[in-house]
Amino acid sequence: MSSFANLKRQSQSGNLDKLSAKIKELNASSEGSDKSEKFWRPEVDKSGNGMATIRFLPAPAVDGEESLPWVKLFSHGFQGPGGWLIDNCLTTKGQQCPVCEENNKLWNTGIEANKNIVRSRKRKLNYIANVYIVSDPKHPENDGTVKLFKFGKKIFDKITEAMNPQFEDEKAINPFDMWTGANFKLKIRKVEGFQNYDKSEFESPSPLLSDDGELEKVWKSEISLTEQVADKEFKSYDALKTRLEKVLGTSAPKTTVETIKAAAPKLKVVEQTEAVVSSTEEEDDDMSYFSKLAEEE
Ligand SMILES: [Zn+2]
Repeated sequence: MSSFANLKRQSQSGNLDKLSAKIKELNASSEGSDKSEKFWRPEVDKSGNGMATIRFLPAPAVDGEESLPWVKLFSHGFQGPGGWLIDNCLTTKGQQCPVCEENNKLWNTGIEANKNIVRSRKRKLNYIANVYIVSDPKHPENDGTVKLFKFGKKIFDKITEAMNPQFEDEKAINPFDMWTGANFKLKIRKVEGFQNYDKSEFESPSPLLSDDGELEKVWKSEISLTEQVADKEFKSYDALKTRLEKVLGTSAPKTTVETIKAAAPKLKVVEQTEAVVSSTEEEDDDMSYFSKLAEEE
């Protein structure tokens, strides 16, 4: 029976713990899974600096011997009049992505203002790998745990560099090897408003742990990477298109090829149309049919 006495009893018996657990549970389910728990992020201080030591781990036991120690993931994240679009990009799976398609259309107008919109909405490349947290000074409770770590091209370049060193006096290492690999010192600074990882580096090669039994436990506790890019992590083409239209506040994007064709050669009309969204990865300015038209005008 719910009563005041009951309420008081709860107050004395650690109700806060129960509440916190509930909140954790709710947060986890609202994200579809317990992502917040599985993924590790280095924390930075107020000035944007952060540091931690991690070890990249081999492909997880659960994914099978053929799999790689990382997966690649493209995603979109931007805000339009109708809200935010934060979704994985279907090109990750080699499929058509409605967001990228809109970006291509905009990019091909050749108009600088449109290109800037595309730049802000293009797909972003991330990698996901399992890491063993050697030292997380801001959150020592993470030390010795295995988590997923999402990172960008800069860190991936450091990994490939370690595997293929540029100078003869440097020995190639496999950073994902638990015996002959090396710990990675993550050093984050804020440079011109962005998080910068340039100072990050691999330490000298060393076994992750001295005991093979412990290493086996680490390996077996790794989280599946193939699950991170499984179908359930993606909206369908149609669902993503619907979301895109909602975010843009246009059920039918105005800057279609047809409108542009109709407007040619008076291409200035295009500049007045509402900004549409999305992404083209390449930044190269290849001359499109429409930018040629613009020059002729
Ligand atoms: Zn896309």
